[in-house]
Amino acid sequence: MVIGKHRPTIACVNQKAIAHNISEEIKQLEGRAELFAVVKADGYGHGAVTVSKIAKDCGATGFCVAILDEALELREAGFKDPILILEPISPSYVRLLTEYNLSVTAPTYEWLKEIETIYKQENCQKPIKVHLKIDSGMGRIGFREEKELTQARDLVITSKVFELEGVFTHFATADGSDEAYFLKQQQRFLKALAILPQDIRYVHTANTATALWHEAWQSNMIRFGVSVYGLNPSGTLLDSPYQLEPALSLETELIQVKKVQAKERIGYGGEYQTQTDEWIGTVPIGYADGIRRDMSGFYMLVDGEKAPIVGRVCMDQCMLRLPKEYPTGTKVTVIGKNQHQEITVQDIADYVGTINYEIVCNITERVPRVIK
Ligand SMILES: *Cc1c(COP(=O)(O)O)cnc(C)c1O
Repeated sequence: MVIGKHRPTIACVNQKAIAHNISEEIKQLEGRAELFAVVKADGYGHGAVTVSKIAKDCGATGFCVAILDEALELREAGFKDPILILEPISPSYVRLLTEYNLSVTAPTYEWLKEIETIYKQENCQKPIKVHLKIDSGMGRIGFREEKELTQARDLVITSKVFELEGVFTHFATADGSDEAYFLKQQQRFLKALAILPQDIRYVHTANTATALWHEAWQSNMIRFGVSVYGLNPSGTLLDSPYQLEPALSLETELIQVKKVQAKERIGYGGEYQTQTDEWIGTVPIGYADGIRRDMSGFYMLVDGEKAPIVGRVCMDQCMLRLPKEYPTGTKVTVIGKNQHQEITVQDIADYVGTINYEIVCNITERVPRVIK
């Protein structure tokens, strides 16, 4: 997708906010665990390379990504730090793992055997760094049976193909919604650990929610994700132990302002009808930029005032009801502060019935990310 460099719609990424969030978390850890910054999905829409640089400067000692290409992006950008790919990769790409010195998630014994076969066929040299994933109750990926885990252990510790670098799990309810289930997952992970060698380099269980609200238990590394960006993994359910600073703001400008008479319709389907004579402003941001159609009825900020989004959101634009006439070029805030008012990512997530993660990930590549 091309980037809209010649358009006034921009996502600003605040370096200081990211630095603040990471530094606060590192303080909490008091040296008990390392922090790997999770920068998958282009750093939750903030720009993976930018965020990784800031994270490293603040003391992050590694990175987690979801897919192989995201790991390659960081290596191409020059990062030499450990990078863990959280999603299992196709064994056919094993050569890339050795060439780029990447760590990878091992979900099953069968996967390890496939890696071993292709590794030998391709005559690779350096061992593959694996993190065994324990499915302690997320039900997504990883080992569930003791027997299979034992087989995997025997394979990775005897075969020269592998270096057993890590073991980890992922909690489904660490944001406080079900403590009993969290404890059950912990118990299962402990049982898995008992089967494995005791000197594994990285033992990690904590995503952001676990790091914020549960002791970094049995763990020497945390996978710190959504709060890097100043977002609360629980939404509004639980307070974070320190102030999180949102890193992203989304801004645009009025590109046309007009007075529309009463009983005129606005937008596709003519769903909105003006009640009286109204000032209507058009902004160059739509669902192809990540403004969901169900944001119709929500608002943006103009001159410190709320301006409702009227009519359906179009692909590239949408219309606002303005409190009064404003000149074209007036700044409009979609996310962030505008004078005494603020719209948070969480406000939008609540309005459309989703989580803050989805809102930031959905801002498309067309919107330039500007670092400030
Ligand atoms: C995405 C992800 C994380 C980070 O999650 P946050 O809730 O953003 O902290 C950690 N671990 C795994 C396995 C993930 O997939």
